[in-house]
Amino acid sequence: MPRFRAILDTMPAYRPGKAVAAADGRSYKLSSNESPYDPLPSVVEAIAEGARQIHRYPDPGAIGLTEAIAERHGVPASHIALGAGSVTVAQQLFEAVGEPGAEVVYAWRSFEAYPLLADLSGVTSVRVPLAGEDHDLDAMAEAVTERTRMVFVCNPNNPTGTSVRRAQLESFLDRVPGDVLVVLDEAYREYVRDADVPDGLTLYRDRPNVCVLRTFSKAYGLAGLRVGYLIGHEPVAAAIRKTIIPFAVNHLAQVAAVASLRAEDELLERVDRVVKERTRVREALIAQGWTVPPTEANFVWLRLGDRTLDFAAACAVEGVAVRPFAGEGARVSIGDPEANDAFLKAAAAFLE
Ligand SMILES: *Cc1c(COP(=O)(O)O)cnc(C)c1O
Repeated sequence: MPRFRAILDTMPAYRPGKAVAAADGRSYKLSSNESPYDPLPSVVEAIAEGARQIHRYPDPGAIGLTEAIAERHGVPASHIALGAGSVTVAQQLFEAVGEPGAEVVYAWRSFEAYPLLADLSGVTSVRVPLAGEDHDLDAMAEAVTERTRMVFVCNPNNPTGTSVRRAQLESFLDRVPGDVLVVLDEAYREYVRDADVPDGLTLYRDRPNVCVLRTFSKAYGLAGLRVGYLIGHEPVAAAIRKTIIPFAVNHLAQVAAVASLRAEDELLERVDRVVKERTRVREALIAQGWTVPPTEANFVWLRLGDRTLDFAAACAVEGVAVRPFAGEGARVSIGDPEANDAFLKAAAAFLE
């Protein structure tokens, strides 16, 4: 038998969200926080045009996309590093800091990828329990030791939807030593409406040890193409560029992302509609008697404890796939109004 790293035995296999369907065939996927909208025609056109080039390797420096992102955010191109989805950028971060004995601090529960990537890279995870549904930034600052190389702050947090406020985050950043990289994972930034939830791009400028992760997968609707990026100071971006597998961001992803930035007004208008639905869904759930933490993301969180898997099964009967975390709760993406109504119906029936 070939020998594998011992850590693989302790890692759970990735479980993709299961598709479910009601008896009449209706099926709503509210388990992956995707955009509920079809791709924009202008983006599909750019991909079709890009298809004529697929016998060539993609531009390894993704110059066109990097420049478009730089212009969009008003940052130097040298501050940007791309990856095949921001999960891959996160993996590149682990590769860049991961040394035997190194620790990474993150809240728990938070994004499922953090523990997997830590294990894979040989970095030790230090999980700091949420306080209620929120990051406990004081406890996280206290968890930073000489061994800490990186801290993730997922804002808004996946799966609870809760957000860290500006004053809290600034005083946390002031407490973290300058040689520890703080990663602000802002996969849901475009859905944030609370003005007190800081845009990480306003925080990284004066802080060489702070960087921001963004993705085209959620608000921009390109989950299937895999493209995300980091914005940080030059040494951080340069380290991440070194860890990329050559040509990881494929040509179609590059052209689709550029086209999406060009069509940003249309895409952000869709985000507005999702945000309106988010308000409607949360208020309806509260009216039904649920406790729903305030959410700035494109999903809601229900802390169901032992009832979590029963709840997921009840939603499946209505054709609604949610993301259950057994013993903890369920994360439910905001979809189109029809999908949201199907979910609300299941949620009401569950309480009876
Ligand atoms: C969805 C998500 C991502 C983005 O993943 P991609 O690899 O860009 O598709 C990153 N971080 C968090 C917290 C997410 O929920």
